[in-house]
Amino acid sequence: MEKIKMKTPLVEMDGDEMTRIIWHSIKEILIKPYIDLKTEYYDLGLKNRDETNDQVTIDSAMATKKYGVAVKCAGITPNAQRVKEYNLKQMWKSPNGTIRAILDGTVFRMPITVNSIKPFVQSWTKPIFIARHAYGDIYKNAEIRVPGAGKAELVFTAENGEVLRETIFDFKGPGILMGMHNLDKSIESFARACFHFALDQKTDLWFGTKDTVSKTYDHRFKDIFQEIFDNEYKERFETAKTSYFYTLIDDVVARVMRSEGGMLWACKNYDGDVMSDMVASAFGSLAMMTSVLVSPDGYYEYEAAHGTVTRHYYQHLEGKETSTNSMATLFAWTGALKKRGELDDIPSLSDFAEKLEKAAIKTIEEGVMTKDLALLAELSNIKVVNTGDFLKEVNTRLIAML
Ligand code: NAP
Ligand code: MG
Repeated sequence: MEKIKMKTPLVEMDGDEMTRIIWHSIKEILIKPYIDLKTEYYDLGLKNRDETNDQVTIDSAMATKKYGVAVKCAGITPNAQRVKEYNLKQMWKSPNGTIRAILDGTVFRMPITVNSIKPFVQSWTKPIFIARHAYGDIYKNAEIRVPGAGKAELVFTAENGEVLRETIFDFKGPGILMGMHNLDKSIESFARACFHFALDQKTDLWFGTKDTVSKTYDHRFKDIFQEIFDNEYKERFETAKTSYFYTLIDDVVARVMRSEGGMLWACKNYDGDVMSDMVASAFGSLAMMTSVLVSPDGYYEYEAAHGTVTRHYYQHLEGKETSTNSMATLFAWTGALKKRGELDDIPSLSDFAEKLEKAAIKTIEEGVMTKDLALLAELSNIKVVNTGDFLKEVNTRLIAML
């Protein structure tokens, strides 16, 4: 078979630890033999982020703006322990945070479902998609540890000098304080991204905030969603026979647990961070959740929802065999290749990515899987394989399909 030619390069963001190893295996075993792979490579491994003073992260986000589609490997967000381990110049910020601040947008999380693995929540017969607003709130906050008695105020000084002032609290002793923000523009593009995705996937859209308690901040989210829905999407939703439903966040949680799934659940930034891990775990494994950042300007960044799987990496360094699941990282690659094929009008590229996904799902449904899934699968003849062997098994099935 002749290798599939690409037109525009993918922005390739390499990462850390176990996922960095998986990254290279996926390319060697499942992509390069079939595609004349064009990428613009950025090494977002922690060592190189440190050496470039994190410029490489910014460069990779700018390249995503230039080319439109990126695929990203999981990377370490440094904490105090990592600063020591890697002898870092400073505690660099989360690369995802930096990238999202540049691209703005919404993160969509989608579970990869396979027949033999039933969700822990028995009523969930359809996948649940999560849309996480990727801008602001506590992820771009200012915090103060209050040393003792004093008055805390919220002060806004307009460009014309006008001042808005609100007392937060009169402290009688030590405590903590936080200030956060969001932007109408960012919430609007979050709303549009969600409505668009729901129409595209023909799913209902659910959204919840705590607007009864946060009567200005959260209420603004609710109002913006409703205005945009009424003005731009209502009729299209009716035609597509889907619906938009708003309720309090706690009510959404209760309803989701009792539902059959099949909806897109729009979440504010923090809710999305937490709830996507809950939904992923309930569907089986963190390793079966994919993630795509969709920017309002139409840029896409694909990745796995999980991290660098540090525990497995340390085992690997000790020379022990690991059985790390590569599905979500593989689906990041196929998602990016499919999108590139679609944008550059290369049907053979999208087609290949589709087949690769099918081959991977077939492998698991035939009983060949990594350890994390073996604990969950309802099959009698399960063959547990290591990371590399799983990819080879996928390749065998892929060859048969091509
Ligand atoms: P993690 O890497 O997602 O792993 C947590 C645990 O989940 C693992 O120890 C493993 O459980 C299981 N798991 C996750 N992915 C798996 C896979 N592909 N196959 C099998 N099991 C899997 O989260 P973490 O340990 O909290 O974080 C590790 C590093 O990743 C941190 O430095 C963090 O900063 C970074 N991180 C990066 C991103 C990102 O780049 N998007 C996201 C989250 C975290 P068992 O140990 O029980 O096998
Ligand atoms: Mg999280």
